[in-house]
Amino acid sequence: MDRCDAEHHPTEREELNQNQQNNNNNLNAEENSRIRRKCRLTDQKSLQNMVKSGTNFIVTFKKLLQKTKACKEEARHYMELVLHSIFFFGHINKPPISPDKFLPGQLTEGFRSQFPKPFSEYNTHLPSYTPYSILLEYICRIEHLKPEDPDVFIKKLETVNESLWKIDDGDGNKPIVNRFALVATVVSYCCVKDSNNAEVLKKTYGASVSCKGDIQREIMIALSALHVWDRAVSYVVSCEGNGPPITFPKKVQCSAYKYKQKRGSYKKIAPCTKCYKMYDVEYDPEHQEHDDEELWPYGNCAENESISRLLQRDKDIRNNICIVGENREKLMNREEIENKFKEEYEDEKKSKVRKLLESRKFKLSSEEWRFFTPSHSL
Ligand SMILES: [Zn+2]
Repeated sequence: MDRCDAEHHPTEREELNQNQQNNNNNLNAEENSRIRRKCRLTDQKSLQNMVKSGTNFIVTFKKLLQKTKACKEEARHYMELVLHSIFFFGHINKPPISPDKFLPGQLTEGFRSQFPKPFSEYNTHLPSYTPYSILLEYICRIEHLKPEDPDVFIKKLETVNESLWKIDDGDGNKPIVNRFALVATVVSYCCVKDSNNAEVLKKTYGASVSCKGDIQREIMIALSALHVWDRAVSYVVSCEGNGPPITFPKKVQCSAYKYKQKRGSYKKIAPCTKCYKMYDVEYDPEHQEHDDEELWPYGNCAENESISRLLQRDKDIRNNICIVGENREKLMNREEIENKFKEEYEDEKKSKVRKLLESRKFKLSSEEWRFFTPSHSL
């Protein structure tokens, strides 16, 4: 082992490459060393990009709060949530990234004195949302960005993405994609329509899970199932397509918009097969059969967040969802769906999150998990 290895923190890529490297024992030492050097350079670059992505996200979000004239409490509330979420992902990164790294120079002290809570709780309290989901929730909240037409909302989001999406890689190469926005390529719009005149009665938005790394994504999906989503969403996500979907009342509609990086705009898309298997709602556009492999895990799609928010906001819809059999006979009502999640999946998810967090040196000291809450609730 060379000295460099002994002093080097293992990174995610190195963990993944471990097996592959073990198989490469037949390669000569020089070749092995060349591969290691190359991996290390890529890892360094990846770490730098993660730090830059966090910094860029914080700065962009601060500007957004100023531009949209957020009131003092509102700005504090959302900035604390964004800072905590980014610091948490920094902490569970391999190697860990401290909060100070995301806020270079004078920025650190300014932010630390203004928002002390995220600085002291990033390694003891869990986030409920990824940074991009927090940003999306803020945009939904702003009064003058609440149009009836989702296309108008999507246009507003494109403007925000413009400054958030790409960051300079520092070497004069073409800009790279922000790690905290990267996977939020899809947002979903969900609404309840009046069955008489099709007027929109309620609407919600959601983002796909926007964090880099398989383990991080697994943690966020499990935390969402345990703590954030409506339990019906938690249940059907946990079933992973093995079983009938949740059936919604006729007046619920769902659309997804995919961000096209090159064009800098969103395009309405059909739901993926995973969503189609989980939610029996009216999709616009309709689901299309295809042979493409969908590599993302159950729970990753934006639909889970928008549908969950809708269920949490509309009691009438919430109480009228069910699971039906082949002949449309009712198999499970809302309460039974909820109980099933508790009985079959809750404990398994808890121990999974615990193991994953412990592998990333996150302090889960008591049975009672602590989730981050901003110092002022709105
Ligand atoms: Zn989907």
